[in-house]
Order: sequence, then C-alpha cells, then structure tokens
Amino acid sequence: MDAVKKRLAKQVAETMKGIWNSGMTTATGGNISVKDSEGNTWATPSGVDKGVLTYKDIVCISPDGDVISSRGYSPTSEFSFHRAIYETRPDLKAVIHAHPPALVSFSLAGKVPELHLIPQIQRICGSAGFAPYKISGSEDLAERVAEQVKDGHNCIIMENHATVVAGSTLDEAYQRFEAFETCAKIIINAKRLGNLKNFQNVSEITGEPGLKEYMSGSEPGRHQAEIAARDRICEFAERACRHNLLLSSIGAISVRLEKGDFIITPGGKDRRYLKAGDLVRITDGYKEPGIQPDISWLLHMEIYNQHPEVSTVITSCAPYSMAFGLTGTEIDIKTSPEGFVLLRNVINLADVNPWVNSREVAARLSEDAPCILAENQALIVTGKKILQAFERLEVTEFTARSLIDSLPIEGAKRLSEKRLKELKDKFLAI
Ligand SMILES: [Zn+2]
Repeated sequence: MDAVKKRLAKQVAETMKGIWNSGMTTATGGNISVKDSEGNTWATPSGVDKGVLTYKDIVCISPDGDVISSRGYSPTSEFSFHRAIYETRPDLKAVIHAHPPALVSFSLAGKVPELHLIPQIQRICGSAGFAPYKISGSEDLAERVAEQVKDGHNCIIMENHATVVAGSTLDEAYQRFEAFETCAKIIINAKRLGNLKNFQNVSEITGEPGLKEYMSGSEPGRHQAEIAARDRICEFAERACRHNLLLSSIGAISVRLEKGDFIITPGGKDRRYLKAGDLVRITDGYKEPGIQPDISWLLHMEIYNQHPEVSTVITSCAPYSMAFGLTGTEIDIKTSPEGFVLLRNVINLADVNPWVNSREVAARLSEDAPCILAENQALIVTGKKILQAFERLEVTEFTARSLIDSLPIEGAKRLSEKRLKELKDKFLAI
C-alpha cells in the first residue's frame, strides 16, 4: 500500500473509531467509505468491531468492483447505498453511516431535524432529507437514499434505522454528521423543556466587513505571552470538543493580547486538532495573511473593545444550553451555589444576530452577566482568564442539562433570596 492510500485507509479507520469512542454508534452499527482520485473506494469491513479498527482492516473496492483486503474481509454489508450515493452525486467523495442516539430517535419517529432552527448548524450541514424504510443492504434502500442525495440533501434520516451523511471529503462528511446529531440533540432537549419558538430562516453572517490582511512582512512578532496563549487555546479547544462544548466545525475561543489585539481559533479547521500556527491574530482590523478567523471574530472584537476586564471569549453551540435558546427559556443559574458564584446571571437575547449586531450584543455583557444566550445562534461566555471562561461554559452547560433532567422529578428549585445573599456576602463581596 503506498503512502497516500495508507493515509486514506488510516483516516477511514480513525474516523470510524472516533465515532464509536464518542458514543455516536454501536460497535457493530455504522460504516464509512471514501473515494480516491483513481476511482477506488475505501470502506470499513463487514462484521468487525468498530472500536478497534486499524488501516489494515479497511477494504478497497476497485472501479470494476474487485475487492482487495489484506485480511480477507468483505466490505460493509451496506455498501450498496454508498455506491449509489457516489454514482448519483459525483461531487460527494465520502459517506458516513452510523447509529447516533439522537438521530436514531428522529429515525424511529419518522421525522427529520429542522436544520434551519440553528443557522450555524445549517451552514455546515446544508439540507436534510428522509429515506423511507427498506431492508438493510438492499438495492431498494440504495435507491431511496440516492433519490435524497439527488434532491441535494447531504444529511439523510433513514426511517427506523439511523442516518447517512455525505461530503466532498471525509472531514466535511464528519463535520456534517456531528453537527446533524447535535441539531437532533438540541431539538429533543428543547422539546422536553416546552414549545419551540418560531425562528425565521436567517443567514447568520454577511462576509467579513473591514478585516484586511497585514502587509507582507509587517506581522507583529510573537512574544512569549502570545506563544503561551496559543497553546492554551489549542488545549482548551480540544478539551471542549471532548465534552461536546465545541464541535469540530462550530464554536470559537479567543484570548486578548495587549490592547485590543487578540488571537482566535480559525474557521474551517477541526477544533479537535488545532496547532498554535492555525490560530489567527487580529490587530486593529487587520488579520494574519492566508488564514480565516472563525465567523464570530467581529463579536469577539466588540467584546474586547467594550470590556477591558475580559481576556477570553468563547462562543459555543452546546446542546443543552441551546435547547433553552430554542424555547426562549432562561437557564436559571441561581439554582446552585456553583452556578450563582461563577456566573451570577445568564441572560437571554431574543431576535438578535450576534455575528451582525455584535456591538449591541457585546453591550449587554457585564460583571453581573458574563454569559449571554443568543437564542438559536450561540452561547457567548466571557472571563478574565481562559480557565474562568471555560469553567463558566462548563457550568452553564451542566446546569442546563441538570435543569432539563430534573423535569421528570418535579423540576429544579431556585435558591432562596436569603441563601443567595449568604453566597454573595461570602464569595462575591469586593
Ligand atoms: Zn445501519
């Protein structure tokens, strides 16, 4: 196997293993394939434990249908719909089929998650379709799936089965798959809370007004503090992804340097594997050449401009917090000492687009409200240090989850005014 093919086979094995490791499929459910530039398809094998795959397990299917496997494996028994997708849409080069719990819930209910409810997710996923039930591995099922991709859908719910998602690369397919599952989780959590608000389908961003690149050679030098901050951002981005606080394609972390300068995670790069050099420095409306900052950069800049005490901003699509956004319900942070002491308040902002109305959103933050839930757009968290912002993000999401989980056991009770005053006097007195 040459180096390029080995890399591809490795990517297929690692992606499948990663999906299993993050609880998004069972050890036997799910399969992945990728098409290479010579027309070969590299697919996961049939009947092999998805948690322990290596590149040697990956099977190659030639354009003529010959199967090459060093271990004598057959390709996935559901290969027929992979092939049908590639034949129908030549722009698609990677397919992920898996059984993630929230999307399977939609599949069992015969419904499709409404991607337009969360514009950041819709931007990654495109549109979603529905393939009616046909028995697994059949040509009938392949036809139903192919009809959906022909209609332009990249993400498909397979009735009483699971999901299949495709992309022009395996990375893109994975990003769509993960975002699609997150959308399903948010909607399920939101429906536990109450009725969903009626959100209009608005695009969440309009280009990058006013952000120019540095003149070549005029980049500011990297001082020790910046080098350390870049490493910290990469470390926290990876940890946030591991705990579903950021997605591989959605969410951003930034850290202020001196004055109004800051560094921010890039757009279009997997947040799990960022390196210090992937981050983007923004100085006085100029950015580093050749790399794009996350779409939220303008909001981060406005927050730093208006709040000298803030040194870290995190924007997130965390699935329990966003459920509160979809229903227009406040995350009652005054239900636990940890929440109250760390955050004081989480405020909801309705009918506002934080990527466009950044100045207005930034103005709503204060020492008493360091965290904003911009309804169906994002959770925005700030802190004096990166660890403080990260803790606030975690505590907000954990509280949101506990509030939802407490509903079947009679719901959460807020701390009394007397207890809040005690906490204030003990922990928040200046
Ligand atoms: Zn399946």
